[in-house]
Order: sequence, then structure tokens, then C-alpha cells
Amino acid sequence: MKSKRIRSSISYKVVLMFVLLTISIIIVIGTFMINRIDNFYHEEFESLMNNVFSEEYVGRLNKNLEDGNVEQVMTSINTYSGQMGIDSYRNYYILDGKSGNAITGTNPELAKTLDMSPNIISALNGKIGDRTEASMGYMDFAVPLKNGNNIEYIVYVKDSKEEVNSIVQNILSIIFSSLLFGIFISVAFGILLSKTIISPISSLTQKARRISSGDFGNTIDVKASDEIGQLTNTFNDMSMELHKTLKEKQSEIDKTETILQHMADGVIAFDTDGKIMHINPAAKKLMRIPKIENSNFDLIFSEIDLTMSQVNVAEKNLEKVIKRNESEIKLFFAKIKTRDKMGGIVVVLQDITEQQKLDNSRREFVANVSHELRTPITTVKGYAETLLDSVKENDYDKDMFETFLTVINNESDRMTRLVKDLLLLSKLDYSKKGLKREEFDLASLIEGVVSRFQITAKNAKVNLYYEPIGTLPIFTGDRDSIEQVIVNLVSNAVKYTSANGKVIVSVGKLKGNVYIKIKDNGIGIPREDLPHIFERFYRVDKARSRERGGTGLGLAISKDIIVAHGGDITISSDYGIGTEVIITLPIKKPIF
Ligand code: ADP
Repeated sequence: MKSKRIRSSISYKVVLMFVLLTISIIIVIGTFMINRIDNFYHEEFESLMNNVFSEEYVGRLNKNLEDGNVEQVMTSINTYSGQMGIDSYRNYYILDGKSGNAITGTNPELAKTLDMSPNIISALNGKIGDRTEASMGYMDFAVPLKNGNNIEYIVYVKDSKEEVNSIVQNILSIIFSSLLFGIFISVAFGILLSKTIISPISSLTQKARRISSGDFGNTIDVKASDEIGQLTNTFNDMSMELHKTLKEKQSEIDKTETILQHMADGVIAFDTDGKIMHINPAAKKLMRIPKIENSNFDLIFSEIDLTMSQVNVAEKNLEKVIKRNESEIKLFFAKIKTRDKMGGIVVVLQDITEQQKLDNSRREFVANVSHELRTPITTVKGYAETLLDSVKENDYDKDMFETFLTVINNESDRMTRLVKDLLLLSKLDYSKKGLKREEFDLASLIEGVVSRFQITAKNAKVNLYYEPIGTLPIFTGDRDSIEQVIVNLVSNAVKYTSANGKVIVSVGKLKGNVYIKIKDNGIGIPREDLPHIFERFYRVDKARSRERGGTGLGLAISKDIIVAHGGDITISSDYGIGTEVIITLPIKKPIF
């Protein structure tokens, strides 16, 4: 693995190339030199022999032979041996002109083993044999000596080329050492060169590796303005641009993620296999999916018989409603399209329980208002018609007129009260900011309300007491609406307490709050009605409430006002024993 990596590295390739180049150059030069030397020796030998055995000299030798002076010939050739360069590698022989066998020679040992060379054959045929070939491994020269036309002797010079060979050997060893030295130098140069090219490339590779693992870090130093420097510069620009783009992308993803995390609506994204890719906390809370990793689209929506393929084939986005844990959830199904191919399904979940409740309570409210108005209107209309009839028939008496008009007047008052209460409620619904922030003495306000109710209480034979505990600090809030609450509650306590009953209104301070307690020993409220007592138009005993001029809105209005002041109102009651209403209000911190 490691050796493979080394072999595929640029360093290895550069060094290998240098080494191969050096080897080939040295081999080419070496071969050329050896050839040149060999050729030079051959040419030297040839020209030397041709010089020695010139036509004139050979003619002289032939003449000596014709004169029968063989001794003279042999002595003459021997005299020339110095000029022929005869030494231990180069010998001359006198061969028999007929058979080509050696008669005598400077090396008698070698003379016995002389081969028949092409030059000897030429001489046997009467021509000078002066052809030397590098491939033959020796150089020779053969001159026929004639007596008339008769070839009597052949002077044969043979060089074993040992001297040339030893020179070639020397050159070869020089070439070999230069080869080793050249390889060493080329390896060193190769490493040096590849280092200068590779070190910036390695920095680029390392940086690219770091970038691919998400670490953009610093830019790479640009050390040169060559191609690699330009590449490094471009790479730095590219990495900066990539980092910027990725950061922008990431911030987009983070934004979307934050929106999805905190939006009230649930979002679930399914992949093409129906597996959940993404689910936000709202969706988890709404759907209560036990094991997200094991769930899939068809399983989750099996209760509404909806499958993924149905959503995929549907032309429009689908809308469904399901019930989960007493909540009603509206589902919007949309296909995710990525570049023309299906990318799954996204489901948006909306908890419509509150909206449904609100719609129901609105419908109920309208029905209640109509109902509450219809009764007095019917009464007024009935009595007015009767009065009209009696006027037309001229059959009326003053008492009847007075009774009827009193009823009409009372019913009109009831309608006025109802409309006033409704107006107040709608004012509280739409603008809690309509409440004023003013400083006033809460204790004396309560005392004033109690003293105003003394006459009503006296008429109903109810004992009404005001019991402040300690002194109260100055209170901040909306004076009129707080007075309205106290009036409602004291009026209720007196209304729903029988003769000889007792109503105590007390007020005090507890920690940062003031508390107001209205306690009576009247008819009380049944336990099952208590949870609904603050609902609009809720009345325990409708007939009794109406008979006593109640609208069923008093407690609802009171609760709205107290909550708007950042306080709380609670009712505890025992049926037939009495009722206690407790209000707590922060002294100086109304929230509107
Ligand atoms: P209403 O105008 O009918 O009095 P409220 O909203 O003030 O309307 O009161 C709602 C109902 O709560 C009343 O109809 C009555 O049945 C009951 N209730 C309120 N206060 C008392 C109380 N102190 N004792 C007994 N019942 C009460």
C-alpha cells in the first residue's frame, strides 16, 4: 500500500525520469565513444600497414624474391617491424604462399594456431588483404610476395586488439563510475526539484483535505509567482469563496432550522420511502409518535386511511383533520419537488383545538346574547301590545297601566344593563390598553361601594360589613373598572344571600399584593357549577338570577378586569352554606 503510494507520487516519477535520462545519456555517449575508439584503431592500423607495404616496397621485395634472395626479404621485413608497431599484441608472420600455413613469425606459439582469415584468402589469391572489421575481434593485413606470377610468401600482420580492448575496458569502467555518480546526482537533483514543485502542491493537498473535513483555517502562503504560485492564489480565492458560500448556506439552514424549531405549527418531512427525514418539536408534541425511527408515513396516517401514494397522485395539496389526545389537528400535505423529481412529502400540522373552541364559544355567545335579549324584548312587546289594545278599546285603568309600564321599564333597564355589560366585555376583549393607570386609595373605594350598598342590603335584610385589616398603600390601576368589580361582587353577595344573612367585605395587604375578600353565608354555589362560574352568561339558577336583575356577565367581566391588572380572582363555595370570593392584585404593577 505504502510502496504503491510512493510509486504514484510525483517525487518518485521525477527521480525515476532523471535516473533513466542519465542512464540513457551515459549509455549513448559511452557506446559512441567506444565505437569511435575502435574505428580509430582500425583506421590507424589500416593506414599504417598501407604506408609500410607501399607498392614500391612490395615491388622491391618481389624483385628480391625473383633474384632468389629470400634472406634479404626476411631481413628487410624484420627491419620494418618497428614501423609496423610489432609488440606483444601485434605480430607478423611469413606464410607459405600456396597453403597459407605459417613458416615463421614473431610469436611462434601463436603461429601454430593461426586461422585462415578473409585477408589471408585474398593474399593467396594474389591481392593485398586489408579489410578489417570491428566485429572480428582482431585486425590483420596480408601481403602476397610474388616471384613472377607465383605467390611464394605472404607477409601477414595480426593485431589481437588487446590494447584496444584494455582501453575500452578502462573507458567502460569510467562510464560505469560516471553512471553511478550520474544516478546519484540525478536522484539528488530529482528530489530537490520535486521538493520545490511538490511542497506547495502538498500544502494545497493538505489544505484541500482540511477543507473537505470542514476546516477552512488560514490561507496558504504564496512563495512564488510561477504557475504553482498562481494555482495557490487561485486555490486561496476559491477556498475563501467556498467558505463564504458555505457560511451563507449554513446561516440559511440555521435560520430555517430555528424557524422550524420555534414555530407553533408542526412540520414533518418524509422521504420517498415514507421515512421521517425531519420533524420539529411542535409536530412531535402534537402527534406523539412513539418511535420516530420505526415510523413511516402510511403507519402514522393509517387512522385517516391516507397512504403516501394517494398524496403523490393527488393533483392538489390535501387537507385532513385528525384527533389526537383531545386535540384537533389540521394536516396539510404537500409534495416536495426537487428539480422535477419527487423528493418526498411535507406535512404541516396545525392545532385547531383552540380555534374550534373559540368558534364554538363565539357561536354560543351569539346564541346567548340573542336569547338574553329576546326575553325582555318579548316581554316589552307583549305588554306594549296589550296596552295599545286597551287604549284602542278604551278599556284601561290606571293601576294596570302603571304595572305594565313598570314591567316595560324594568325590562328596558335589564336590556340596558345587558348592553352595557356586553359593551364593557367587548371593550376589554379588544383593548385592554383602554384601561387607565392612575393612583388611588383602594380601601376608601371599597368602603364607598359598601356604604352605597347598605340601603340595598337593608332592603334585603342582609347585614353588610366592611372590615379593613391594617392600612393599604396607594394602589395603581383603572379606578372605574376596579369599582365595577367590587360592585359586581358585593351586589352578587347581597343578591344571593337570604334575609338575616351576613356579607363581610374585608381588605388587606399580603406581601406585594392587596387582597379583597367578599364572604357571605348565602345560598352558595353547587360544586359542579364552580368550574364554569366565570364563563359568560353562566348562571347557577337562571330564574333567580334574572329575577334579581342579573345578566350572567358580572363574574366574567370581573375576571377579565382583574387579570388585566395582573391579579387573580378565585371563588370557593359550599352549597347552602356560603360563598367566598378572593381577589389578589399587585399593588403597583398593573400589566396593561
Ligand atoms: P349574575 O348577573 O347572574 O349575577 P354573575 O356572573 O355575577 O351573573 O354570576 C354568575 C352566577 O354565579 C350567578 O348567576 C349566580 O348563580 C352565581 N353566583 C355569583 N355570586 C354568588 C354568590 N355570592 N352566592 C351564590 N351564587 C353566586
